[in-house]
Amino acid sequence: MGETVQLYIDGMWRDGATRETTDFWDPATGATAGAVAVATSKDLEEACSAADRGFRLWRAKSAVERSGLLRKASALIRERSAVIAPLLTREQGKPLAQARQEVESSADIFEWFAEEGRRVYGRIIPSRAPDVRLSVTREPVGPVASFSPWNFPLAQAARKIGAALASGCSVILKGPEEAPEALARIVGALHDAGIPAGVLNLVYGVPSEISSFLIPHPAIRKISFTGSTVVGKQLAAMAGAHMKRATMELGGHSPTLVFEDANLERAADLLTAFKFRNAGQVCTSPARILIQDKVYGEFKSKLVERAARLKTGNGSDPGTDMGPLANPRRVQAMEAFVQDATDRNASVATGGRRIGNQGNFFEPTILEDVPQPARIMNEEPFGPIMTLQRFADFDSMVEEANRLPYGLAAYAYTRSARTAAMVSDAVESGMVSINHHGLGLPETPFGGVKDSGYGSEGGSEAMEPYMVSKFVTHSLVD
Ligand code: NAD
Repeated sequence: MGETVQLYIDGMWRDGATRETTDFWDPATGATAGAVAVATSKDLEEACSAADRGFRLWRAKSAVERSGLLRKASALIRERSAVIAPLLTREQGKPLAQARQEVESSADIFEWFAEEGRRVYGRIIPSRAPDVRLSVTREPVGPVASFSPWNFPLAQAARKIGAALASGCSVILKGPEEAPEALARIVGALHDAGIPAGVLNLVYGVPSEISSFLIPHPAIRKISFTGSTVVGKQLAAMAGAHMKRATMELGGHSPTLVFEDANLERAADLLTAFKFRNAGQVCTSPARILIQDKVYGEFKSKLVERAARLKTGNGSDPGTDMGPLANPRRVQAMEAFVQDATDRNASVATGGRRIGNQGNFFEPTILEDVPQPARIMNEEPFGPIMTLQRFADFDSMVEEANRLPYGLAAYAYTRSARTAAMVSDAVESGMVSINHHGLGLPETPFGGVKDSGYGSEGGSEAMEPYMVSKFVTHSLVD
């Protein structure tokens, strides 16, 4: 067991005021992996004061200076990957290669925001009078309260910290209590890069207590949350009640439309790899696979064969394709989904069961003939389960794709440029990826519509919610 992961407030690592801690576990073994400090309201009040001071200091720095510090942090994260990645695997479960990728992508996100922060431009509006100048400047909104989840403890946090700091905002980040240590190392890299005290603060504790404290707090001007739709709606309502801006990156139930003219071999390879990445605990993970009638049998065989071949095991063992689920709740959720579906006469094409009785392992699972009222057809799986459905034509596939209140990511496989364009137009989704699973780059928008939330955490759109516009009209006549 490692040392206690501390809170980072006002540039210092420290215990919570009551010294209370909570344990976190290695999901591959069930053994305790460490303990994390629990923030009290006293700690949170101090974090708010620090973020307030940090904001004044940080916004006064030039964009070039902020950019330089973020670049330095990015370089330090890359240098420390060999230390950080194994910590991530131990506390979250993902295979080491995926943990390394996540460290790398976090560094990439900071680097991209370092660049984007230098391109925050205002504008001049043509005036109606010769002696009046009309301008719009963009200013950072203020201290931000961010809530990042356990499925990508580093990358999701990097998106929130990167956008805020590049815009000139300070941040109080509530990290995931179940996977706190690797993230603390990322924050350590930002500290070592020279981010001034108070500009970035990291807290852990009881999520509902922290959000109820921070969201209404007068120092906080913006909220950013990644997590379930249920919690997102509660936090968005609280933000609304206090007139705080909010970015909500919530759940999904991604449809994948496989048309009869698709390259089935390639589609099966890409879809299997993407579906079972991070054991399916990805908000953009394909959930419902909608297959055109003529190729249903052939595509199903290809998927089943590939899923059954995946090696599930401890993420730190070389050769593991899929690690354990991040917590026992997810295993119970997978068992309940499968039980409910089979009670309604669905068939298990492969998988369907927990593996062993130590650690949170669950088989890569494919279900078919699942009736529409089954829970898995309506609730986000957030685990290694996908369902197969057979469809006659384009219209019925799109109707099913748009059936649910979610609208985060959608995928399609087709060789026809026309079908691809029609899917892009017809699917109600924040992101559409065709003939590959190409989402989640720092430079591209990342976010959903409908119950999947609002706002973007990627691309130049990601900076917008952290900025306010100020209109200045100036008469030159004095
Ligand atoms: P959960 O809804 O209890 O928690 C989800 C996340 O929200 C966690 O990070 C948690 O710490 C945080 N949270 C919960 N209540 C909060 C509150 N009142 N204030 C602030 N933060 C709060 O569920 P869970 O069992 O941890 O995760 C399962 C579900 O969460 C999944 O089914 C999935 O839909 C969703 N989830 C989504 C993402 C995503 O990337 N969009 C990430 C993690 C979890």
